[in-house]
Order: sequence, then C-alpha cells, then structure tokens
Amino acid sequence: MLIVMKADATQNDVERVIGIIEKLGFRPHTMPGAARTAIGITGNAGAVDPAHFENLTGVAEAIRVTKPYKLISKDLRPEKSVIKVGNAVIGGNELAIIAGPCALENAKQVFSVAEAVSRSSAKFFRGGAFKPRTSPYAFQGMGEDGLKMLADVRDQFGLNIVTEAMDERGIDLVEKYGDCIQIGARNMQNFSLLKYVGQTRKPVLLKRGMSATLDEFLLAAEYIMAEGNYDVILCERGIRTFGTHARNTMDLSIVPAVHRLTHLPIIIDPSHGTGRNYMVNPMARAGVAVGADGLIIEVHSQPEEALCDGAQALTPTQYLELAEQVKVIHDVLMPVAV
Ligand code: PEP
Ligand code: MN
Repeated sequence: MLIVMKADATQNDVERVIGIIEKLGFRPHTMPGAARTAIGITGNAGAVDPAHFENLTGVAEAIRVTKPYKLISKDLRPEKSVIKVGNAVIGGNELAIIAGPCALENAKQVFSVAEAVSRSSAKFFRGGAFKPRTSPYAFQGMGEDGLKMLADVRDQFGLNIVTEAMDERGIDLVEKYGDCIQIGARNMQNFSLLKYVGQTRKPVLLKRGMSATLDEFLLAAEYIMAEGNYDVILCERGIRTFGTHARNTMDLSIVPAVHRLTHLPIIIDPSHGTGRNYMVNPMARAGVAVGADGLIIEVHSQPEEALCDGAQALTPTQYLELAEQVKVIHDVLMPVAV
C-alpha cells in the first residue's frame, strides 16, 4: 500500500498517517517529493485495508501496490532521487564520475592516481581495501590501513570516497572512513548483508550481480531501502554471456529500463563491464549517451604492475581524456535528459 498525500497536506496530516501505519504494526517510509509526499508501507503480510487512510485529511489516495517492489518505484516518488554522497551528489544534473584504482596497493600508487583524478571533473574517488578475489591466493586488499589512506585522500584532494565492503565488519569500517559503501556484484544477493547496510546511514553503491535480472537487481535495492536507507545508487557492471571478446557484456539497455521503473540513479562501470583497456572509453561514452547518471572508472599509474584488474585500468592520461570526452556528450544530451 502506498499513501499519496495532497500537495497541501500539512506535517500533522503526514504524521497522523505515519501513526496509523505504526499502530497497525507496519513500517512507514516517508518520501517527500517536489509536488507531494508519499508514504510507502512495508511489513504487512496481506493487503492493507485502504479504509484506514482514505478519509483522513491531507490524504489524496491510498493505492494498492501490485508490483514486487514498493520503495524503489516511481509510484512512490515520480521524480528522480538525487543522492548526497559526501559533499557532492549522484543523480543530479551533473554527470557523476567516480575514479581510482581497483585495489589500494600503497601510498605512492593511491596518491598519484588521486592527484590525476582531482584534476578532472570527478568528485568521487574509488579504491578497494577489501577485494573479492576469485583465488584465495590473490591480493586480498590492504584492509583498514587502506581505508585510512582513503580518508587522507579526502582530506588532501576533497574527493568523496566510494569503497567496497564485503561483510558486516567491513561495512562498519567503511561507514567510519568512507562516504559511500559499495556492495559488489558477488554480494548483490547477500540478503543479510543488504539488510545490514540498509541499517546504516551512508549511501550505498549497489552493483548488479553477474547474472542478475532487472527484477532481482531492483529487489536487492528494495532490501536496502526496506531497512530505512533510501540512498541507493545502482551500477551496471556487465553480465556473463557467451561472448569471450570482453570480460563481461555491458548491458546498456538496463539504463533506460531502470529509469522507467525507479527513481534511483544508475551509473555504469565500463572497466569491469569490458575488462579491456581499449574498450573502456568507447563504452563509457556509450553509457553516457544512453543516459547513465555517472561512471565508475578504474585508473592506475602503471597498469602493467597492478595487483588487481590491470588489463582494464586506464592510465591517468587516458582517464583524463575520457573525462573530457564524456563531458562533451553529457552536455549535448542535457536538454533531452530523462
Ligand atoms: C570493483 O569495483 O573493484 C569490483 C570488484 O567490482 P564488481 O563487484 O562489479 O566485480
Ligand atoms: Mn576491479
């Protein structure tokens, strides 16, 4: 059930509705919008009787939700969500660029990449301190020492920090040092982790699972939001197909599909989406052209020496070129943006 308030509903009217939802033993999710406030209801096993709400002052409509998701839906919030991440936003009019190495390796590597990123229009820095590696013998990340380095990057360059957590302890640490918690493709359906991150108050970058359908992806976001954290940014990072020319297949059609169904922003990751240095720039440009709200790009000063994902890393020079090019495309498309 979804309660849509009238445009002139007062705060008292909203609070009366919230009180009734809580009294029924359900959870209210208030979404203030530009034109009106809507209140989603979760926690109900069966249908909620609209009669509880229909005749209250300030209530425009009580709508039964038939879709599998409630809180991500445009029914609840018709306008796009603009998610605050540190001192910047994702989902607004500007293209959000998150750039940095795949894995944090050492101070020299981290700061040389951060310096290059700070010379671009990017407002966000990435770098994994906890790495989900296929082999247990591969470099697993610097852990908390890496997160401390990221906090120094924020202080020195003013970049907002996006970094992955793989478990509850990691989430606590990223909450402490970072600005946005990345949940990686491999954990997209780790439901207990999604619930845990939903209880934090930091924005979440949720990457699409390697074989997740659109509904599975959106329901993973719904898990986070159902816990009360509405600041979710989706990320298309390529899916597994039969193709072998690229590491993954970037599913760009998911961008308009996401924009049609949900108010949440979606960014694209052409680094993991292709796995090949020479494909990153063209696919980044294509992602911006289909209306992505941002990009996440891996950059390394010496890709051939990288401890993780060197084949898809851009050099700082290549990255700066990409940032210039996508800005031109974004500016051309701005007037027709979704
Ligand atoms: C990453 O961003 O470095 C990463 C591991 O991404 P994904 O979860 O998309 O593989
Ligand atoms: Mn990587």
